[in-house]
Amino acid sequence: MKKVKRFLFPVSVSFIVGIILTASFFYWQHLNNQQSDIYETIAEFDQLKIAKEQAKQLVTAAFLSSSTLDVNDLKNLSPKIYHVNFGILMYHHINYKAKILSVRPEILDAQIKYLLEQGYKFVKLSDAFKTFSLTSSTPYDKTLVLTFDDGYRDFYLNAYPILKKYNVPAGLYVINQDIGRPGNVSWEMLQILHQEGLVEIGVHTVNHLPLGRLKPEVAYYQMAKSKELLERGLHDRIDTIVYPFGNFNENVKKQAKQIGFIGAASVYFGDRPNGQDLYAWRRVMITNSDVGVLLLRKLFVAFKLAK
Ligand SMILES: [Zn+2]
Repeated sequence: MKKVKRFLFPVSVSFIVGIILTASFFYWQHLNNQQSDIYETIAEFDQLKIAKEQAKQLVTAAFLSSSTLDVNDLKNLSPKIYHVNFGILMYHHINYKAKILSVRPEILDAQIKYLLEQGYKFVKLSDAFKTFSLTSSTPYDKTLVLTFDDGYRDFYLNAYPILKKYNVPAGLYVINQDIGRPGNVSWEMLQILHQEGLVEIGVHTVNHLPLGRLKPEVAYYQMAKSKELLERGLHDRIDTIVYPFGNFNENVKKQAKQIGFIGAASVYFGDRPNGQDLYAWRRVMITNSDVGVLLLRKLFVAFKLAK
């Protein structure tokens, strides 16, 4: 009997230690997976020679709503607390890839449906610039703008049908060098979007370079040429630009105005939308985690709380 006891003690101790080690390993792996999602994106930005700090800010903004809240807190949150006068949402891909720049079609559908149910309206970015320019106070209440960057083909295939279903306007910001390439919208698609009128086409420059880091004449060319090519292809005025990577400086803002854009948008590190300065408005990146009241909370933090 004593022998059995002497045997049982080390066995149970190593069993418990084993369980603890296995659990910690899986937790560590779980944390690592979360991290690698972020680092992969930062690496992508690095390749494009974007300042690391800006990439980090962009990614942090994306995680803003989901990282600090426990799902159990959801039931304690009321959408009324997160009343937003005006905000701009930024999307890239609408597809099923597990990437930070991808939102699943059914999530986009649910996000728009939820916002409409909460009484939010949607306007085009150009209309927002025009309306803001007429007043010094916030001209909107519960009004949002949807923007889609880079001109991916999945916008046309997956997002556009959802926008039509809810009759909600949006903006598509295209890179000229990519039009017609595999995975990107074609001229024919752009013409259809433009003619049907629900989606406004805007400039995202010729080559998708960080404008604030370019020589002034190159930055000017990137914006002016892109506007000219789009206007020629769509036989209409192109009024808006969103800066690649949200990157800009004072000179870029001045040039955007000079070229004839009525306003410009950046990303999280841009200014809170205001009528005094229309050339670097903030947008916030939307992800698959931004559902229901979490989405409103993110918009509230980005457009009402953050300076
Ligand atoms: Zn872009």
